[in-house]
Amino acid sequence: MTLDNLGTWLEIDLSVLKNNFQVLSDLTGKQVMPIVKANAYGHGLERVAEAFAEAGAEWFGVARIEEALLLRESGIEANILVLGYSPPSRVSHAIKENISLAVYDQTVAEAFAGEAAHLKEEVRLHAKIETGMGRLGIPHAEALPFIEFVSEQKFLKLEGIFTHFACADEPDKAVTREQIERFNQVLGEVRNRGIDPGIIHASNSAGALNFPEARYDLIRGGIALYGHPPTAGMALPKGIQPALYWKTRLISIKELPAGHGVSYGHRYHTTQRQNVGVIAAGYGDGLRRVDGNDVLIRGKRIPIIGTVCMDQCMVDLADLPDAEIGDEVVIIGAQNDAEISATDTAQRWGTINYEVLCGLAARMPRHYTINMKNYAD
Ligand SMILES: *Cc1c(COP(=O)(O)O)cnc(C)c1O
Repeated sequence: MTLDNLGTWLEIDLSVLKNNFQVLSDLTGKQVMPIVKANAYGHGLERVAEAFAEAGAEWFGVARIEEALLLRESGIEANILVLGYSPPSRVSHAIKENISLAVYDQTVAEAFAGEAAHLKEEVRLHAKIETGMGRLGIPHAEALPFIEFVSEQKFLKLEGIFTHFACADEPDKAVTREQIERFNQVLGEVRNRGIDPGIIHASNSAGALNFPEARYDLIRGGIALYGHPPTAGMALPKGIQPALYWKTRLISIKELPAGHGVSYGHRYHTTQRQNVGVIAAGYGDGLRRVDGNDVLIRGKRIPIIGTVCMDQCMVDLADLPDAEIGDEVVIIGAQNDAEISATDTAQRWGTINYEVLCGLAARMPRHYTINMKNYAD
């Protein structure tokens, strides 16, 4: 793929991803399970997983079994854990492709056991304990009988026990400390019963960075591996960098007279005789249809004006008289000394960087590089 062929695209530096994996592994001293759900946070599932595998990842985490099967199809041989819901009818796929499933409910566990018994083969399971997130998991007070049940079933293999934090990225640490305490209590009960809990894991990126005592055997690393902070204010370890750039081009420049309407609904009018540019990205690519978006052109922050269209939007070139058609435009990333991070964009959109990344449309070509470019040095 040559970039000259493209209107808008993502550039993803695989060496940055590998470096982030190394930094998080070294810092925590634990195995890091890259979480590659939602198309690897928009970065592209297959190539990203391959890069993390090359960097030494022995586990991958996904949300759905469809994602796990795509990983197997693309040749990933490492362990894969489906963190979310798996319909019992998928147990056969999990067994066939050697995929581990989360189990968080007695009814589901019984259905899994029935499916596996029917096939006379073991399915690998991680029992999820609800310690305070209020989402999936067997309530911590009921965990012991549940884990006993799973460990006693002939065709269920209890491979691990895990929980998930609700507030690991919040300044107030009380909730997470309580979750850790409840989780440790469950682990103690399980061991007292003589049951091997297997692989223990609890921490997402924020948990791993803010609660060293909650690193256990494995870190479930998502946002930090892609180089972004779990919350806007949180500092990342030195060396971790964003791997993704979102770029487009200036595809038209026109001088419009003062008072000329721009884009659908004419919600913007030129205030003077003014150069207006068009860039080749819109809400169909994941650019949110809100006011106040900026892009970088020639190292300068340039405002998007008028309504964002599906495939294009307009920019005010009043401060950029030397702009030319074909100029590279950065929507997320750095250009010269300027930078718009996914976190900046999220704040402008009233959301979090996770949602910005997951919203990068599938239609945009992903171009992979291995330059270890310094993003914002
Ligand atoms: C998505 C997810 C993660 C990764 O979270 P980050 O904040 O991106 O590090 C970890 N664990 C579970 C259960 C998840 O669903």
